[in-house]
Amino acid sequence: MTTASDILHHVFGYTAFRGDQEAIVNHLVNGGDALVVMPTGGGKSLCFQIPALLRDGIAIVVSPLIALMQNQVATLTELGVAAAYLNSAQTPEQAREVAKAMQRGELKLVYVAPERLLQPRFLAFLASLPLALFAIDEAHCVSQWGHDFRPEYRQLGVLAQHFPTVPRIALTATADAQTRQEIQHHLELEQAQLFLSSFARPNLHYRVVQKNQAKQQLLALIQNHYREQSGIVYCASRKRVEDITAWLVEQGILALPYHAGLPHAMREQHQQQFLRDDGVVMVATVAFGMGIDKPDVRFVAHVDLPRSPESFYQESGRAGRDGLPALSWLCYGLSDVMQIQFMVTQSALSPDRQQVELNKLQAMLAYCETNTCRHQQLLAHFGETVAPCGKCDNCCQPPALFDATVPVQKLLSCLYRTNQQLGAAQIIDILLGKAEHNDTAAWRHLSTFGIGQELTQRGWRAVIRQLLARGLLKLGDAPRHALLLSPECRSILKGEQPVWLRPLESKNNKWIAQTGERWLRTERQERLWQRLRRWRKEVAEAHNVPAYAIFLDRTLRELIEKLPENATELRHITGVGESKVARYGQQLLNLLHQAE
Ligand code: ADP
Ligand code: ZN
Repeated sequence: MTTASDILHHVFGYTAFRGDQEAIVNHLVNGGDALVVMPTGGGKSLCFQIPALLRDGIAIVVSPLIALMQNQVATLTELGVAAAYLNSAQTPEQAREVAKAMQRGELKLVYVAPERLLQPRFLAFLASLPLALFAIDEAHCVSQWGHDFRPEYRQLGVLAQHFPTVPRIALTATADAQTRQEIQHHLELEQAQLFLSSFARPNLHYRVVQKNQAKQQLLALIQNHYREQSGIVYCASRKRVEDITAWLVEQGILALPYHAGLPHAMREQHQQQFLRDDGVVMVATVAFGMGIDKPDVRFVAHVDLPRSPESFYQESGRAGRDGLPALSWLCYGLSDVMQIQFMVTQSALSPDRQQVELNKLQAMLAYCETNTCRHQQLLAHFGETVAPCGKCDNCCQPPALFDATVPVQKLLSCLYRTNQQLGAAQIIDILLGKAEHNDTAAWRHLSTFGIGQELTQRGWRAVIRQLLARGLLKLGDAPRHALLLSPECRSILKGEQPVWLRPLESKNNKWIAQTGERWLRTERQERLWQRLRRWRKEVAEAHNVPAYAIFLDRTLRELIEKLPENATELRHITGVGESKVARYGQQLLNLLHQAE
């Protein structure tokens, strides 16, 4: 009899289950329902793919995106698993072929879009077939609060009534409790066993930099550390996406834009190219990303401040699914905070919802300005306690706090004396003694005019950001965004409470060199690496599948490090199962041992 671990070894080529995978697989194989909440890269797919192979009948996988289905089917086919999809991108002829293959019992997994699954005719068709299970991927699509809302997902509860004996598993990477409850409710999974994983992402390296010509900063990051590697750059607006893409392309970087304003066909094409090639930088709004299960995204850069820790976690989490080191880089400045606040307060949201959004912004700001481990801070937001990661910028170079009481008092006193009606730009001019603008000229006579010359404009902005992050200052409404004093400022002004801040200028530290995203190779290894990558690209193109469906970077790396000599040794490499040995074993051995 075949067991789950046989399949793990022989089909997928992995040595051990991760986290809850084994428990989930067993639960499903025994006919139970499950709700799986696991971070991106946690390995959700195996949780239903292995039970699909162990149980009799067909597994139906509901997936919201055509690209996602195509890539999962491509990866499975490469592993020698009989899988197919049904979606609107197919001709009726192709769909009929799939349906026939289902009737003949030739398929183990079939991916379908929710609209198709819900058609009465299709439900009736399924009722005539033996079914192994239903898997509902990206289950957070039921939630109308997220930007991935798909109304059809809400009707998937009908599966419980039509197929009471077929086990159902819903999977999501969205952490918050509200979304979880919505999934349980709409999918009728209240009785299902919940598998809630840790949201820790130990291979992600978090870094925050102060915005100072974001484009140049981004370019330097890519040129110095991520040449020819895959990455995503998130921007706050469509216009910004266009602008940044054009700039990167001008600088010789293979970058593609993605936002909801582009024609559908172009979006699809860019997404496909990003998924398939290993070296495209996708510049995008939050519209991009759901179901992007590309394992080798090496960095996610935010050139504007995300609006909440939830979206930041989701977006940055798209880096490093393969478990290799990957970077989350966030570049932000005071103007980002003003912009988001402006958008929230101008929105049609009710006052209560606006407050919720402003609290999220505040939490995001706290992440940016924290002195402690960023990974720890982010997870604390989701109610999880972890040890310091040892990898983020704060862990690697703990910021040396300095006593900033005097400059902070000067700032607060200026704000107080100008009646809390000035914004950051004006108050800084007053501190620096600049009177070019009418706004500030009016305050020339003030005793505190020009008392802040010990800091630069940038330094003062850093002070203001940190005080906002701690809630000592609040931002007033647009257009001016006056800085408002909190009650706590009184004791600071009176000298009863010292204020310690992070350094005001972010040094260009050496931390980045330690992220290890670049695997140091000897010259010979480098040649092998390039050779294997070229070969992988050719095979992927010939098979019309993404490069990673042939082999993950991790597998190529292990091949080069271990230099297997024969098929038996090949089987010990992570990601090399039976089908890969049969298809590519000899070619790989030749490539690895071919004379220079
Ligand atoms: P998720 O859908 O949770 O984001 P995936 O199912 O795409 O994650 O898996 C992420 C990566 O981890 C994939 O490249 C997958 O092949 C790999 N993976 C999953 N489970 C294991 C395991 N037990 N051992 C090694 N690699 C695994
Ligand atoms: Zn840390």
